[in-house]
Amino acid sequence: MKDFDFVRPKTLDDAVSLYKMAGQKASLLAGGTELINQIRSGKAQPDLVIDLKHIRDLDFLSMTPEGIRIGALYRTRDAELCGPLRDSRYNALSYASGTLGSPQVRNKATIVGNVCRASPSGDLIPPLIALGARAKIVGPGTSRSVTVEEVIVGPNRTILHPGEVVSELEISRMEDCTGCSYSKLSPRKSLDLAIVGVAVLLRTDPDSRCLDAKIVVGAVAPTAVRAKKAESILIGSKFTEATIEECSRAAAEVSRARDTSIRASAWYRKKMVEALVKRTIGLALEQIKEGKKRGRLWNV
Ligand SMILES: Cc1cc2nc3c(=O)[nH]c(=O)nc-3n(C[C@H](O)[C@H](O)[C@H](O)COP(=O)(O)OP(=O)(O)OC[C@H]3O[C@@H](n4cnc5c(N)ncnc54)[C@H](O)[C@@H]3O)c2cc1C
Repeated sequence: MKDFDFVRPKTLDDAVSLYKMAGQKASLLAGGTELINQIRSGKAQPDLVIDLKHIRDLDFLSMTPEGIRIGALYRTRDAELCGPLRDSRYNALSYASGTLGSPQVRNKATIVGNVCRASPSGDLIPPLIALGARAKIVGPGTSRSVTVEEVIVGPNRTILHPGEVVSELEISRMEDCTGCSYSKLSPRKSLDLAIVGVAVLLRTDPDSRCLDAKIVVGAVAPTAVRAKKAESILIGSKFTEATIEECSRAAAEVSRARDTSIRASAWYRKKMVEALVKRTIGLALEQIKEGKKRGRLWNV
């Protein structure tokens, strides 16, 4: 392992300045569950590691009637155990967090780190895309807001420039009669990456007709992908068995998995996308029912 310098800025401004000065020779460290492995294996060889963990302002989850904000240091274990989040219409984030790694990993791993790592099988990425999450990207004297979908451009590749830090994720309030769920298929119950991960967001009218649908599939292509044809089959329709079947079959078409993976064949992944989409539509519809039952008690 190559030697590197290590700094612990206390403010976001300091982190951004240090990062800007060091440029591509520096790496940001949040939970470190991914970066430390990359440094050990030689895949990352930074001269400088900028540890964000002492920037206290970045460790937060804020839930208001306008939506939710997730700070760059908010960990997956906190999201998994956070009662108000689990009990809210955003609980797909709690669930997806709880499927990542093991409790030890989740105690370190951040949600924002999961996005910035940009793994094709990142568990938080499909639900964040389905929920329309935006990343606030702070650079030297600049700040921009970009959807999570646009942030990730390939495996381990994002649109972030050296000097830019994701300070938080923002999700606008979900409208009434909306449900969002995540399902993960992996051979082991913990410490295993997704063979397929599916997030489904649905909004219905009072007549239970589909007004909006987002279907996002992870681990079957270089980045998580929206199954837009499948979404269009649902929008405007009732959730009949035939429609759900047709939609699930169309969703499987987004799979670009290759047979070179030892974890699952391309055929199996495609079949599992179909099965998981069907299942996750059912879960999202259950959520809408739950929300209707609870009315105003359905948090934020
Ligand atoms: C044993 C084990 C099991 C795992 N299992 C899973 C799993 O089941 N599912 C899954 O999705 N992942 C899994 N992972 C991967 C990893 O834990 C997650 O991707 C995690 O969310 C990364 O978060 P982190 O805070 O540790 O990121 P870090 O390792 O600190 O950073 C990851 C990358 O993001 C960059 N980065 C971090 N924060 C920021 C920021 N604020 N702004 C800009 N760039 C930033 C870093 O520079 C680095 O390139 C596993 C890892 C291990 C070691």
